[in-house]
Amino acid sequence: MKGVWKKILKVNLSARSHTVEDVPESVYEYFLGGAGLAAYFLWKECPAGTGALDPENRLTFATGPFQGQKQSGAAKWSAGAISPATGMNADSACTASFGMELKMCGVDAIVVHGKAAAPTYVVVEDSRVAFKDASGMWGKDAYVTEDMIKAAEGEAFQVVSIGQAGEKLVKYANIQTAKKSFLGRCGLGSVMGSKNLKGLAVKGSQFPDVYDQQAATELNLAINKRMIDVMATKPDHFKIRVLGTAMATALFAPQGNLPVKNYSLSELDFPSGVANIGGMPYVEKLNAKPWPCKYCVIQCHNKVEVKEGKYAYSGKGPEYESFAMMGFNLLIDDMQAIAYAGELCNLYSLDTISLGSVMAWAMESYEKGVLTKADTYGLDLTWGNSDAVIEMIKKIAVREPGLADALADGSGAAARKYGKNSIDWAVQMKGTEIAAHNWRAQYTSALNYCTGVASGPNHERANTQHIWVGHILLPEWGIDHVANEERWSWERASEFNAKFHDYCNVINSAVHCKFQEFTSYNLTDLLGTINAVTGLGWTQTDMRKCGERITTLQKLLNIRYGWKKADDFTYPKRFMEPVDKGVAAGKIPEGLDDAILDYYHHRRWDQNGVPGRELLADLGMEQYA
Ligand code: SF4
Repeated sequence: MKGVWKKILKVNLSARSHTVEDVPESVYEYFLGGAGLAAYFLWKECPAGTGALDPENRLTFATGPFQGQKQSGAAKWSAGAISPATGMNADSACTASFGMELKMCGVDAIVVHGKAAAPTYVVVEDSRVAFKDASGMWGKDAYVTEDMIKAAEGEAFQVVSIGQAGEKLVKYANIQTAKKSFLGRCGLGSVMGSKNLKGLAVKGSQFPDVYDQQAATELNLAINKRMIDVMATKPDHFKIRVLGTAMATALFAPQGNLPVKNYSLSELDFPSGVANIGGMPYVEKLNAKPWPCKYCVIQCHNKVEVKEGKYAYSGKGPEYESFAMMGFNLLIDDMQAIAYAGELCNLYSLDTISLGSVMAWAMESYEKGVLTKADTYGLDLTWGNSDAVIEMIKKIAVREPGLADALADGSGAAARKYGKNSIDWAVQMKGTEIAAHNWRAQYTSALNYCTGVASGPNHERANTQHIWVGHILLPEWGIDHVANEERWSWERASEFNAKFHDYCNVINSAVHCKFQEFTSYNLTDLLGTINAVTGLGWTQTDMRKCGERITTLQKLLNIRYGWKKADDFTYPKRFMEPVDKGVAAGKIPEGLDDAILDYYHHRRWDQNGVPGRELLADLGMEQYA
């Protein structure tokens, strides 16, 4: 197989040593790279009983066959480990150039284990590996840390780093790169913090052999051109390059998808939010300009600049998930305040989705008298109070004793501490908060969150919400028509959920940016690129099987790390309470328990949610069980 090195760099922080290890070709043929490779190293090296914050946890930064290709969306990479939030298998995907540079070091992945005796950053330059003192960076934010590493090592290095929340082991701490992209959702920043690893810098100069570079180049050019042409047909107010993911408000509001006031209200109950935190207001109030990843023609990332006032800053513009969870969800309609709060999270390494959700729990608890000013450091946690949220971000990031420390462990943990039935409005499951996709708007989101096998409940694994929002189908895999009304039907939900989950796993292992799909990128493009780069000669059936294998491996890992069937059925009560207005009025995912069991059956898992022998034999995975 071409297009990959079939080698990984293993870094032992305890011993300050490293080795380069060969990886059998069969591992790539089964799991491709990226997220699949990260799961493979958990399977190979982290036995049952390994805790997320134990030195033995493997933190894998991984690339796939696509890194090195000049295709729009190839500036992507994955990372994985056991999650501090769920205690189970987790992975996350990130953009910017770190992955491409990592691969140019002559390895497909860096697998980190152990714990440094003191704060450390690691430098990898082709085959040179150095362990450097990071004690002067400890306590600094993630962006300053990147600046300090680049000042010491050179601007040409690509860097990942953590801020204070990672050091303090906040359960939803993330990892940043290039001050614009983040490994979010599953607490990988805390895994770095637990290892005393403040940063990692990579620079390389090598490219692996590609099976047919001419065919790959022609395909890349054709795909990029087609996507540019498709984008040119869209009006400015509907262009992701102009609006970033802020354009999602215009798509999600008519779907009933927005999270309003901790998912207790509809989009019609917060008209000032719908008017002020979407599309054009984003561009106008934040002076947003494209800040794209390398080779990307979609260009969703934005750099923003708020020139004056208490929310003045210049840097990363918030994505849909950030301003939905910290805006709509908290009844804050000031785009500048939301953006500023989001960038504070980025500096500290706080996942904005979880932060928005834990603050919604705190605000509802304050409204209902479960929390008082005696708990909130005197802050008025009334809905919509953006300045109070900003102050709480600063306290959560450093685990200030009391409420902030509890919120650093997530809304479920905080609810268990403060009691009084407040678990009823903790919108989380398996220790992870739910992202900005409303189960009442499409029931498949409920099925995805309950049965997901990577990173607990995760909107980017089985992202079926895109079926109705972005008209994304998978015709090559048999999903070529879906009616609007099917949002509220379980009939094909298992099929949708399984196929989208496997599709996401292939994408995250290839590794490629999913947003390309909004501009015509499809499974034929994905397969064509995989075959041109690797020479695997797959069919669509083979590619689906690869996705199925990665999903199965992740499922087996979760079972190893303590997943129980009941975990899938312990979901947030809030989504079973209907809203009375808007397009999803009266809709709740009734029948979800039966749908979960139907999904087990569809996947050929047994009634306890465990992959069956026939499935494992079909996938050639008996040795992994
Ligand atoms: S669509 Fe956005 S996230 Fe994806 S590669 Fe392009 S700029 Fe980066």
